[in-house]
Amino acid sequence: MSESHRRRAVFLDLNGTLVMPIYAEAPREYQPIPHSAKAVAMLCQAGFVCPVVTVQSRVEKGNYTVAEFREWFRSFSATLAEQGAFLEGPYVCPHRYATPCACKKASGLLYRRAAVELDIDLASSFVVGDTVEDMEAARLLGCTGVVVRTGWPVGPEVDKICDHAAEDLLAAAHCITVAARQVHIRHYGGTGK
Ligand SMILES: [Zn+2]
Repeated sequence: MSESHRRRAVFLDLNGTLVMPIYAEAPREYQPIPHSAKAVAMLCQAGFVCPVVTVQSRVEKGNYTVAEFREWFRSFSATLAEQGAFLEGPYVCPHRYATPCACKKASGLLYRRAAVELDIDLASSFVVGDTVEDMEAARLLGCTGVVVRTGWPVGPEVDKICDHAAEDLLAAAHCITVAARQVHIRHYGGTGK
């Protein structure tokens, strides 16, 4: 299949981007950030696939299991799907910050796994998240990085590595649907040389 037929993605961080709080004792504490369903629906309508890539360090800490997290995600994503907002995944790193692992952001491992499974063209895709690690992953993968201000308080260091900054996921979705046209033109709109 040619590059141009592969799908464009908006990789979404979960905690601080789609839901709050950043840390929960149990997944049922997670509540959607206002307008996040609307934002995902807008991205889906624009033709993006939206895989969720998340670090759930409370799994290794023992607060809940990956199975419990996945169970919650099934219910959460079903609720969003009723609003035309379709999420893929989740792609989960269950490790603590201090644990050396291959899957923790800013590693590209989970994103690349999603890209293979969902036939995603990374160069025309986006990463949205609230941390420096999300933006580092975007850069590593050759994606466009959009930082949101709804989660971790990010300092000026993030502005040096992100491509765009948005107040929240809805603002990011607006920004991406505009920027995607330009990315598409840059990658596919040339004279074919
Ligand atoms: Zn990990």
